[in-house]
Amino acid sequence: ASFKRIKEVDDKVQAFLTLDEENARKQAEKLDEALANEDTRGLLFGLPAGIKDNIITNGLRTTCASQLLSNFEPVHNATVMDGLQKAESVTIGKLNMDEFAMGSSNENSGFQTTRNPWNTEYVPGGSSGGAAASVAAGEVSFSLGSDTGGSIRQPASYCGVVGLKPTYGRVSRYGLVAFASSLDQIGPLTQTVEDNALVLGQIAGHSKSDSTSADVSVSDYLSSLTGDVKGMKIAVPKEYLGEGVNEDVKKRVLEALKVLEEQGASWEEVSLPHSQYAVAAYYLLASSEASANLARFDGVRYGVRVENEDNLIDMYKHTRSQGFGDEVKRRIMLGTFALSSGYYDAYYKKAQKVRTLIKQDFDNILKDYDVIIGPTAPTTAFKIGEKVDDPLTMYANDILTIPVNLAGVPAISVPCGFSNGLPVGLQIISRPFEEGTVYRAAHAYE
Ligand code: GLN
Repeated sequence: ASFKRIKEVDDKVQAFLTLDEENARKQAEKLDEALANEDTRGLLFGLPAGIKDNIITNGLRTTCASQLLSNFEPVHNATVMDGLQKAESVTIGKLNMDEFAMGSSNENSGFQTTRNPWNTEYVPGGSSGGAAASVAAGEVSFSLGSDTGGSIRQPASYCGVVGLKPTYGRVSRYGLVAFASSLDQIGPLTQTVEDNALVLGQIAGHSKSDSTSADVSVSDYLSSLTGDVKGMKIAVPKEYLGEGVNEDVKKRVLEALKVLEEQGASWEEVSLPHSQYAVAAYYLLASSEASANLARFDGVRYGVRVENEDNLIDMYKHTRSQGFGDEVKRRIMLGTFALSSGYYDAYYKKAQKVRTLIKQDFDNILKDYDVIIGPTAPTTAFKIGEKVDDPLTMYANDILTIPVNLAGVPAISVPCGFSNGLPVGLQIISRPFEEGTVYRAAHAYE
């Protein structure tokens, strides 16, 4: 059914970069056979899954939507893939994204631009645009994306699906091609909050292969879906409903708060005073980390190598010049500059200090409140081509998602109505490792 649907719609949506039909069928047949002999089923038994193309999959091409990795076939799986396999889901293929997860619209893919299934003239968001669009278009039951500065939540919001960025350290990053290692997290995109909780349970947990994955026990997220938010205290940052946020988006968020209020929750306005500096700090820190992480793509170790160069340095140079797209080069240059001696204190170190202040803002509020709620993005999806020539406007779009990554806390985007036929997303944030609280609020609202 999944492949049938993909054949029907993916010409228009263009969510997939690679399909794995033969293997998927084999896997499904094996599950069928096993079913005849066993009465236990994995928790994701037979569910078709799409995987963002920066999560490595054994023997299945993994490109990060970069020409530089157009021929890269990993020889082992990311930890999350082992989790899915154990739960008996079936991997359908690999999903489009902005190259190396840098972008908010999928227009930075080195291969194709995924379209928003609600209106194909609009972007699906990014960088997990393929992951969000494939779920919204009914091509797969769920997908895995990655979120460094909003890349699961913003496309979930634009495509009207549920997307969770777990607490930093909740899910192993082993086998996630690193963009900014101190911010990256893998998370599920689904049609419902229940599905999301179910998938997170299968991919969360400590892994010996990732020293930044936390040794904190994994809760039974499904048991959080009580529908009960009586007495829940909600904080609404005034910065999240301020200038720059579209009026319709504000209205939908206020309506959602009313729904939660009617169920016995209460909300108050608060302030995240340092969030105004989040975008600037993020683009320095994320680019700095990216400039180091992407040094490994040199034509020797992975992917494509430019041929017929007569020395090593030219081979490096030309492989990287031809293999990387403009946005990736922009980030590498910015990051290299910010880390260079003489500028380190003025930029990188300063940005780290701002990051601490932002984290303290969240800590302070979450001492007194269970969740923080606001919109996921300041607007609904924009038109393809509208912002592509203006990187700063594109960066500003991440203003409501980025502070969450800098603070390391968990957050979900859940659909909360429409504006002019395009979905609006509600963002619900909570304390570290309290994904259960996030799900409880999201489920009660949904
Ligand atoms: N849009 C942000 C960026 O371009 C976020 C990306 C992400 O979360 N991977 O960096």
